[in-house]
Amino acid sequence: VDVDKDSDLMHVVHVTAEMAPIAKVGGLGDVVTGLARACLSRGHKVDIMIPFYECIPKQQINELALLSTYDSYHDGNWIPTNAYRGLVSGIPVVFIEPKNHFFKGQYVYGGSYNELEAYLFFTRACLEWMQVTGTQPDIIHIHEWQTSALSMLFWDMYCYLSLKKPRIVLTIHNMEHYGECRVLRRLEGRFGRLGRWKLQLERLGQREDDKCDDGGKAANGGPRWFTAVDDGGATGDAPAAVVTELEPHHLQLLTLMPYQRWMHSSQFTIMQLTFIFYSLFLVFKYTAFCLLDQQFCERGQEELSKCGLDGSIYATADKAVDDRTVGHNPERLSLLKGGIVYSNAIVTVSPTYLRETLCSGWLAGTLIGNRDKYYGILNGIDTAIWNPATDVFLPSKFNGNEFAQRIEGKKICKHFVQRGLGLTSEEIIAGNTGSKITAKVPLVVCITRLVAQKGLHLITHAIKHVEELGGQMIVLGKASDNRVERGFEALAKMHNQGPGIRILLMYSEELSHMLYAAADMVLVPSIYEPCGLAQMIGMRYGAVPIVRKTGGLADTVFDMDDELHAEMANGFVFEGIDEGSLNGALDRAFSRYREKPNEWNDVSQKIMEIDNSWNNTAGKYLDVYNSIRVRG
Ligand code: ADP
Repeated sequence: VDVDKDSDLMHVVHVTAEMAPIAKVGGLGDVVTGLARACLSRGHKVDIMIPFYECIPKQQINELALLSTYDSYHDGNWIPTNAYRGLVSGIPVVFIEPKNHFFKGQYVYGGSYNELEAYLFFTRACLEWMQVTGTQPDIIHIHEWQTSALSMLFWDMYCYLSLKKPRIVLTIHNMEHYGECRVLRRLEGRFGRLGRWKLQLERLGQREDDKCDDGGKAANGGPRWFTAVDDGGATGDAPAAVVTELEPHHLQLLTLMPYQRWMHSSQFTIMQLTFIFYSLFLVFKYTAFCLLDQQFCERGQEELSKCGLDGSIYATADKAVDDRTVGHNPERLSLLKGGIVYSNAIVTVSPTYLRETLCSGWLAGTLIGNRDKYYGILNGIDTAIWNPATDVFLPSKFNGNEFAQRIEGKKICKHFVQRGLGLTSEEIIAGNTGSKITAKVPLVVCITRLVAQKGLHLITHAIKHVEELGGQMIVLGKASDNRVERGFEALAKMHNQGPGIRILLMYSEELSHMLYAAADMVLVPSIYEPCGLAQMIGMRYGAVPIVRKTGGLADTVFDMDDELHAEMANGFVFEGIDEGSLNGALDRAFSRYREKPNEWNDVSQKIMEIDNSWNNTAGKYLDVYNSIRVRG
């Protein structure tokens, strides 16, 4: 698609756990790739930074090359790290590969490493990479809890180093995941200097160039914390929670610096001997406390400090303490909340979800407090990846403009899928040998992660009800929970040999494309849905959506029987979370499909032409970027 280039160009770096198609689990991956491509096509410079997961199919990366090797901090050590550059479906990507066990395994998530630690490492490694390579984007765009700590790391450290220009945007794709992170505040509170010194020395050791053998000078020419004084600290457009004056903890760091320098000197003096004895005494005291006090036994749970942040600074209700535990457990932080407080702008993925999150949910208070920088922007779909006219996975391509070609193309795709999955042909179901009956058996698809949010009881009920209605239904889904997996396995066993239902418990990008193309209807019965892509992708492939009225589903699907909004009508909508409500929508859809085939064809054509692409909504993100960027 030809898009006009923007005149005021920016450099945007996405720091993300997922990108489609190489490291995609759900909508997050689609959104990052789609938004990046839309901004690129408008002339902006865009990079995506993701972990170099072992499971990434390298053959899908073009021009893969080692870019730089550097060290990044993790839990008191410097981890050798490789940064690779490559192109993924035309988008520049920087892959971060630590030389440790992080991001190894068969899948994007669920490896045998600690995910929270790995993403804390990754976010810091991204900033560190920008620092060592002198990369100064206008915007660092972070996503979800996995990369939320970047905003805290940025305003805590890197804005005082060379990264003066970037401003931070956080997109929340789903509030359900919040990145619980433990800090041991009492360690500091009860044992005063002991805990505090330990953390501060750790922080001082965080950067190679702070080893102080150059007199305490940081790489950018001045001692790190003095930079803050010179510049007057962080600039005026920092989020409210960022301190622009030196805080007590900064001053204490400064007072500790001579100590550190002295420790690195080669002379062995009486003073040093005294220091060593004193250190031994501290170690003894510390060990004694460990043995005596259960609190210390929990020290292994101190998580935020692993990326070099001092958890005790963030363990207050106005910063990152989990809202649900305010008042009784200051040790539990939420990385997502920290991201909200410390980002310059926050976006969530649909206007309705924005309203829902302001009205209820545990982050509502925090979001209301940050309402002036909180936006709801509807996701788009990547029309380069999701295009039935060019889709390499389809046995027959089709496009919305040509009526006959579309009908024929969809019919071939439907036959292909039915044959491939061994679904009984419609003639036998109807007890008829005439081929015309084929089109009369509606095919419903449901492509989703199998988690509670997606309305699992409604999906299982739909299977039953579609069968009763004489239709066909294919579920393509992957469960992360064993119990859910086992439940669906049992259902699959019961139905998969039958004539009309297939339950495919796997993740398959290829199959998902074929199913959207084959489907007459796409079902999205979510209990809540921040935006939802399945209904938009379904529409792009001519499948009429049947959705529950919530979040982004309510913003994109309008009921065919709603006479007040007839011109927007594009699907079937139900409100309740009960089976009866779903039955109502399915019944209406089936009878429309069977009794008014011409009207159905018109709707199928109309929905293919709806512009749900990023071209339509990327501009809103660019407006947000523009409103916070530093010019000049
Ligand atoms: P969420 O982000 O909550 O998973 P969305 O509707 O925003 O939900 O995005 C889901 C994306 O993941 C869609 O592109 C959908 O096609 C895809 N998807 C979900 N489950 C599967 C699966 N089992 N196989 C292939 N693609 C899937």
